[in-house]
Amino acid sequence: MIPITNTNNTNADVVVVGGGMVGALTAAALGACGLDVVMLEQKPPPPFDGASYDLRVSALSEASERMLDAVGAWSQIQQLRLCPYRRMLVWDSETSAKTLFDSSRIGKPHLGHIVENRVIQLSLWQQLGEMDNVTVICPASVQALNTGVGHVSVNTDAGEFSGSLLVAADGANSSVRTMAGLSVEGGYYDQHALVATVNTQYPQRDITWQRFTPGGPQAFLPLAGQRASMVWYESPETIAKLKELPQREFIDAMTSAFPEELGCIASVDAKGSFPLQRQHASSYVSPRVVLVGDAAHSVHPLAGQGVNMGMLDAAELVDCVVSSYSSGKDIGSLRTLRRYERARRPANELMIRFLDGIHQIFEPGGQQWLKQAFRSAALRGAEHLTPVNELCMRTAMGLTGNLPPLARGRLPLHV
Ligand SMILES: Cc1cc2nc3c(=O)[nH]c(=O)nc-3n(C[C@H](O)[C@H](O)[C@H](O)COP(=O)(O)OP(=O)(O)OC[C@H]3O[C@@H](n4cnc5c(N)ncnc54)[C@H](O)[C@@H]3O)c2cc1C
Repeated sequence: MIPITNTNNTNADVVVVGGGMVGALTAAALGACGLDVVMLEQKPPPPFDGASYDLRVSALSEASERMLDAVGAWSQIQQLRLCPYRRMLVWDSETSAKTLFDSSRIGKPHLGHIVENRVIQLSLWQQLGEMDNVTVICPASVQALNTGVGHVSVNTDAGEFSGSLLVAADGANSSVRTMAGLSVEGGYYDQHALVATVNTQYPQRDITWQRFTPGGPQAFLPLAGQRASMVWYESPETIAKLKELPQREFIDAMTSAFPEELGCIASVDAKGSFPLQRQHASSYVSPRVVLVGDAAHSVHPLAGQGVNMGMLDAAELVDCVVSSYSSGKDIGSLRTLRRYERARRPANELMIRFLDGIHQIFEPGGQQWLKQAFRSAALRGAEHLTPVNELCMRTAMGLTGNLPPLARGRLPLHV
């Protein structure tokens, strides 16, 4: 049951704008730590009916799984639908160099889970609905931001809401970020992603596939049962043409473009396309306002890191806010917020550059022979050098670095 509340509770410790996966996790963790939270979302998540699949899926890392578990949402996700994967095969179609990542090499039962975005969001909203100190207002669209001494408020079409801190989790085109005067660097890739949920001839196994071709990467992610999510990165023009193809021709195009090992596609449930951007906010904080998730950074989805990075933002921010609150300090002060920014911005910048680097060495054009030599060396190195292979897996699982409590599976100290 989704809590969509109309309430007189317009004042809180923290106002979260955006109830997507990152905003809802932030609200749930702050609420579970005892703070009063108002979460504002412009549109409710579509209901889960069991029969249809959400086109948008995420490869959730172990760190994200722990965070969702700490706020009580993981068991709900397990009850709805998820698909664990133990192995990931990455290869280059031009050189045939490949790397297999297998979680058993690091003693883990799986590398991660593929979960529909709607399932993650609904499970978090379910938890929010059980917290007396969290109010969800939906629909509510933020239109203006006002910061004053000791408080911040937003005007929405559902009224005015205020708190000591405002968390902007309103996505890549964040209007709160603009209202707070925070700028972003970056732009769009000359590549779109075509995503299709397909019905496969055989039940899926525990492996994800990623192949790099001269046109762009292709990914095949297993879903529960005989479903899979196929992602095809190509030029915007090619993707526009593919999207218009009738079902039979579309299946033929997918079958001939994707590797034979994947077997036959029986039918296509849904397809859609997404422009891809790389952007990073120059600063994550301004007085009483802080950015998390895609509002702070957007990355190329080829390594499935976007929401995992956003969830780590949430974990770090919650730790900073709860420790300030517990020691009687101002949770909206720049001192509190800068601690979060210092922990997350350099880590996110590193990931953005790394993903940009992968995109560049696999993109068409430039000195192909040099790129090919580099790709081959990188994939063979990651395959044969055990420490490199293991480090890649641990990094993708969100298990490296100094992890905040939530990413270790527990809530920061209760206030
Ligand atoms: C093709 C593709 C595949 C991807 N695959 C993966 C993957 O495998 N793994 C992974 O980690 N990431 C993946 N990503 C990235 C991931 O989807 C994003 O990083 C993630 O959705 C960001 O979550 P968010 O909560 O920060 O923002 P969003 O999901 O954009 O949520 C923002 C929310 O704010 C609300 N909102 C916006 N403006 C307002 C307003 N003014 N007032 C109130 N509410 C507002 C919106 O309605 C929305 O619900 C993929 C992305 C793409 C495009």
